[in-house]
Amino acid sequence: MKSSRNTPIEFKREVLPSRIMVNDNSGNPGESIVPLELRYDPLTGQTCRIVHYSMERIIRPDMDALEKRAEESPCPFCKPLVDKITPRFPPDLIPEGVICKGNATAFPNTNPYDIYGVVVVVSDEHFIPLKEFDAETVYNALHAAQSYIKTVVKFDARAIYHFIAWNYMPPAGGSLVHPHLQSNAGYYPTVYQKQLLEAAERYFQEKGTNYWSDLLTQEKKTRQRYIGNTGNTEWLTAFAPKGRLADIMAVFPGKASVLDLTAKDLRDFTSGLLKVFRYIDGLNLISFNMSTYSGFDKDRFWAHARISPRGLLLYSPIETSDQFYYQVLQDENICIIPPEEMAEGVKKKF
Ligand SMILES: [Zn+2]
Repeated sequence: MKSSRNTPIEFKREVLPSRIMVNDNSGNPGESIVPLELRYDPLTGQTCRIVHYSMERIIRPDMDALEKRAEESPCPFCKPLVDKITPRFPPDLIPEGVICKGNATAFPNTNPYDIYGVVVVVSDEHFIPLKEFDAETVYNALHAAQSYIKTVVKFDARAIYHFIAWNYMPPAGGSLVHPHLQSNAGYYPTVYQKQLLEAAERYFQEKGTNYWSDLLTQEKKTRQRYIGNTGNTEWLTAFAPKGRLADIMAVFPGKASVLDLTAKDLRDFTSGLLKVFRYIDGLNLISFNMSTYSGFDKDRFWAHARISPRGLLLYSPIETSDQFYYQVLQDENICIIPPEEMAEGVKKKF
């Protein structure tokens, strides 16, 4: 038996003091230490830096102005345009041409990011503010995306890499106000999918256990980042976030893939998502990115999702992006909300 078995997950961090001279109230310069924290993702080893900013400086975007600007061109996801101009699936893949679940409608992405790509228009309502989503609407959209992937993997055995993702609203990269999520499936993993799958395999070989099972056991003990559960879905914040505004994670215990989620699992996930939406709204933010991650074997991988709040206008009166050279060109995240602080905030909504 290898020595690393039974050793706990290491939450490795280092606080790096940065020295600067600042003037005190009398105008006299004095040395000040600005702490910066380097964190290592416990599974992949990817580093990120926590640089604490006050969330009170976030300015809520003017939704009326955004909606008005969005009305300047016709919305392709509103009826009747959505039925006229959106493409249909090839009949050998989906004979009905579209997938309908409640008010959610799924059709192929005209600009696919992978060999299989779907857009799910979440509702026939043009604009749904974050805190006004209801469970049925979100469940139907996730169900439509999951149905699509299930059909694809049966149709094409090579399309083993897939995920469900959501850019909600323009600050998160959503090109339209009308809520829509997406799913992509194909033959090659994304950079992060590959990294995750390899790291999970390594973890399994070294420790003989499933990383996410160990993670939940430890996080539930310390409760620093553990948020709670909604039925079968467990919620926590990521120790080393991928998002500038930290990440909230949903873990699906015992399920290797989002394809294994039952209707109840999807409803449990939805119920937690609605709580997360209320938390994000409470930060004065209107936007988020979400992605699921799936593996192939529940002994090695538990399906999970990350939700990261996104925002423009963070601190300035102009529309400043929350991404900058660190994320774009150095492949390193600078996170401005300590995950432990975010967990405290999200807990209040659970
Ligand atoms: Zn619309």
